Amino acid sequence: MDLRHHVRDIPDYPKPGILFRDITPLLAHPEALTASVEEMAKPFLDQKIDVVAAAEARGFIFGTPLAMRLNAGFVPIRKPGKLPFDLHSFAYELEYGSDELQVHVDGIKPGQRVLIVDDLLATGGTVEACLRLLEKCDAEVVGCSFLIHLVALGGEARLSPYHVHSVLEYG
Ligand code: AMP
Repeated sequence: MDLRHHVRDIPDYPKPGILFRDITPLLAHPEALTASVEEMAKPFLDQKIDVVAAAEARGFIFGTPLAMRLNAGFVPIRKPGKLPFDLHSFAYELEYGSDELQVHVDGIKPGQRVLIVDDLLATGGTVEACLRLLEKCDAEVVGCSFLIHLVALGGEARLSPYHVHSVLEYG
């Protein structure tokens, strides 16, 4: 199945110069959605993943079905003010301003094998912040799985030395 066919390109969204890769047609297509989850999970099927971790909001879309496919649990990584229990936090710089991600302190136990999932790897800022958060939990990060990798933005280097898997690459 040609998954690329189900990703819609929207020029100049959300601002001029950005080519937005819109995955909503893929999500709405039953076979494309199933094939996407299968392809994202494939290299990790025999990796004894304990937990899939993903950041809101689009990371949640693929994170939970991947966790089910890998017989793993799912742990949400969220923006401040969303998680009710004791937290680990990591603040990071954006192009303009800063942001913060949080996870429950008991979400991931030390040594658990974790796969990070997101819809798309662009600059790598979001997943790099997730990695730093999981390091605070003493998790063993097995790798990161994406549906789409925008190769030209160089995000993969920020995730080194972790294993980065993506299903669709765009130049
Ligand atoms: P980044 O932290 O730069 O790797 O990107 C974080 C998130 O922004 C990704 O997980 C996507 O949900 C979204 N994103 C960034 N660039 C694009 C793009 N060109 N098309 C669609 N979504 C994007």
